[in-house]
Amino acid sequence: MLGGMQDWPLLVWKLIDHASANHGSREIVSLTCEGTEHRTNWREVRSRAMNVAEALTGLGVGTGDRVATLAWNTHRHVECWYGISGMGAVAHTVNPRLFEDQIVYILNHAGDRVLFFDLTFASLVEAIAPRLETVEHFIAMTGEAHMPTGGRLSLICYETLIAETSGDFSWVQVEETAPAGLCYTSGTTGNPKGVLYTHRSNVLHTLGGISKDALGLGSADTVLPVVPMYHANAWGVPYATAAVGAKLVMAGPHFDPETLQRMILKEGVTMTAAVPTVWLALLQYLERTGKDLGELERVVIGGSACPRSMIVDFKKKYDVEVFHAWGMTEMSPLGTVGTLSASALGMDEDAQFDLKTKQGRAIFGVDMKIADDDGRDLPRDGKAFGHLLVRGPWIAGQYFGGDGGVILDEEGWFDTGDVATIDSEGYMQITDRSKDVIKSGGEWISSIELENEAVGAPGVAEAAVIGLPHPKWDERPLLIVVPREGAHPTKEEILHHLEGRIAKWWMPDDVVFVDEIPHTATGKIQKTALREAFADYRLP
Ligand code: ADP
Repeated sequence: MLGGMQDWPLLVWKLIDHASANHGSREIVSLTCEGTEHRTNWREVRSRAMNVAEALTGLGVGTGDRVATLAWNTHRHVECWYGISGMGAVAHTVNPRLFEDQIVYILNHAGDRVLFFDLTFASLVEAIAPRLETVEHFIAMTGEAHMPTGGRLSLICYETLIAETSGDFSWVQVEETAPAGLCYTSGTTGNPKGVLYTHRSNVLHTLGGISKDALGLGSADTVLPVVPMYHANAWGVPYATAAVGAKLVMAGPHFDPETLQRMILKEGVTMTAAVPTVWLALLQYLERTGKDLGELERVVIGGSACPRSMIVDFKKKYDVEVFHAWGMTEMSPLGTVGTLSASALGMDEDAQFDLKTKQGRAIFGVDMKIADDDGRDLPRDGKAFGHLLVRGPWIAGQYFGGDGGVILDEEGWFDTGDVATIDSEGYMQITDRSKDVIKSGGEWISSIELENEAVGAPGVAEAAVIGLPHPKWDERPLLIVVPREGAHPTKEEILHHLEGRIAKWWMPDDVVFVDEIPHTATGKIQKTALREAFADYRLP
């Protein structure tokens, strides 16, 4: 033997140990459900996470057991997260915005033994409890003064529970391949499916995620993840900020632009992350009030396509860099991030905006390719579009409980269900979900690209494109538009704006105006609902 390296299992509690030891006084600021602003730091949060771990052990929770949270982004949620996986159990973040029946299904399917919940969800928990088959303990994430009263459930008070621990506890050493977290996809069709993350996959995803061409985080950053921890682990931010010792700002139950802008200014937020709909509201709010974004340097936008106009507005009006990112729950979630390559730095601003509208390049740890319907690889020429396939150590190999059967092909590729192009520099662009793509005369029209361009038209706040049946072409696009407040754009103006920006034969056959476009529980345009609503619509 010539030598070797130590065996240091990649376990998620090592992230918070690192933060506590090296950046212990870096703050974690949360807006709580009790209406307060809470200030703590990595050292205290680690110590309280250990209390959570000890308390769970006392409640009989064991290695591999699932423990659920129904909670907003707060310091307590971070404590639960690390506490649950730090004692060998699986932190299962449940999306409270799902339908009640889906929440019940998910909790039963996961076999959660304990449920931590924020005060916001006290009545929801009370209502669904009789249908929960495996939950033995319900823990309200608050102090005695705010404990819900009048319900029939016997509740445990979070603050009392951890106050009664001895503080004499050590993290549990599990295999690095042991499960640490669980998150269900929102299941727009069929039942939601669970993605089980391991300690190893989460730590590797964190290392990939903090790099300069990904989230690009350092200890001097102040990060506000607007994206909730129940949506694909808040894109890994509570791990990534611990890994680098950044300050963490959590807006709790608040997603409104007024609160976000206030927190960004007051706490000196340098980086933030959320889905486009959140930023749409924020940009409109800034425009209305004349307010700005203080020290904010960059914003990560993903979950659905970020329109070019949003990237331009952030840069030109507020000097904020947009990092367009793509990923999915099955991918922990980061796959690609749209930072500028060396050659792109020399381009003019317009060309850079075009490039930034693409979803970006794969980060190390993500293999990516596109293939046609017959599984043949397609070229990286920025034109050919096909099924986007991925492979890597933080990408799901199967769903929880084996749902859906085998999900990888013989070479280990996972089909993302997205359709994309990849260019010669590796920039990937999503053109559609495979089920949303519009097939016109045997060719594909990208609904996402049409939406992107339409959102840039004057007076347009939001746009969605769906395919409607057509006797000659099979399908043709219908553009559905939500006008900006006080604006009255016309069909002719919008179609005129699209001329020259899209291929002629992509031009929508019609434009309809609506007050609101339906969104899924994770902020995506709900195309299925739109297709139903416009099922009888006749194109001119
Ligand atoms: P859900 O919201 O259904 O729980 P995910 O958040 O995991 O699940 O959704 C993943 C999907 O979201 C991707 O497969 C892709 O279709 C879409 N998506 C994510 N980021 C982007 C992006 N930047 N541009 C376009 N689509 C995106």
